[in-house]
Amino acid sequence: MSFKPISEIGEFGLIERVSAIAAPSLKNAPGLMEGIGDDCAVYRTGGPALQVATTDLLVEHVHFDLLTTPMHHLGSKSISVNVSDVCAMNAEPRYALVSIAVPRKVPVEMVEELYRGMVHAASRYGLAIAGGDTSSSPSGLTISVTMIGETAEHRLTLRKGAMPGDLVCVTGTLGGSTAGLKVLLRERATMIEQLRNNEPYNKDVMAELQEYTGAIRHHLLPEARLDTIRFFRDNDIVPTSMIDISDGLTSDIGHICRRSGVGALIEEGRIPVLPEARSIAEEFQEDALSWALSGGEDYQLLFTVPKGLYDDIAANRDISIIGRITEPEEGLLLTDIYGMTIDLADSGKGFDHFTP
Ligand SMILES: [Mg+2]
Repeated sequence: MSFKPISEIGEFGLIERVSAIAAPSLKNAPGLMEGIGDDCAVYRTGGPALQVATTDLLVEHVHFDLLTTPMHHLGSKSISVNVSDVCAMNAEPRYALVSIAVPRKVPVEMVEELYRGMVHAASRYGLAIAGGDTSSSPSGLTISVTMIGETAEHRLTLRKGAMPGDLVCVTGTLGGSTAGLKVLLRERATMIEQLRNNEPYNKDVMAELQEYTGAIRHHLLPEARLDTIRFFRDNDIVPTSMIDISDGLTSDIGHICRRSGVGALIEEGRIPVLPEARSIAEEFQEDALSWALSGGEDYQLLFTVPKGLYDDIAANRDISIIGRITEPEEGLLLTDIYGMTIDLADSGKGFDHFTP
């Protein structure tokens, strides 16, 4: 038997294979309405509301670096990324189970700070940390959070359901997380250089980070858009499809299109790129638009609504209408600010953990 490196099939290829192996187990759960393939699994428990469940891993050296990530922020982010997946179902978060594997180098005080960050986020979102597990780790710090949420059945929103003519909408701004990460990675390189040379840490470098705080905040402390879910509820809006932007706009609109069997036309000029990300991109001689399209980790909501809801959506200043859903044959297209059309299906893909 020959062994295939995971990088050969990529993260999505791996998910496809393990989903196929797990598929027979689905018949054990008649209450399950959605299994693998959406932001959360969805199931009935007999009560009036539907339950949703999701889980997310944060791994040191893959998702975060302890040199540039305060523990309080890391705790808060580990809750927020799960709340974001619950919001993507148009649901409200209720309970979290938290498991951590801790290496020897991490002292009690740091673990306490991590949990303080989680509890701070939990109280902001109105959810309970109801259990978990702890272990030692022979390598890096690993945090796994599982979250349960609920929604009324008529409010449940899946990735499938977008219809030609629907408006494509996104909350907040994009590109900020990647911009913040770029600044932090540059900072980290400086810190390591100073450590190598046995130089004392130069506080002026940290002070210079002031001008980037907005973008760094987007990376270290993303906010799940529970406020948007409440805006939908208060205004009787049920999107036709929704996903949270974790891998980048291109990849995530791609998920909606594939699951809904539709195409989409996005207008570059309408994509809400964080202004600070544009100035950071200029400094790095990179392109903020490509950070928005394929950078990921912005944790905004991407959703579609019937075009009749234009006025209701436009009334919310924090939501941008960036395009429309088209017939499937039209594919996934972007019109740039000069009116040229670019095929997004073969341009920049989203973040994949297994391909370099
Ligand atoms: Mg998601």
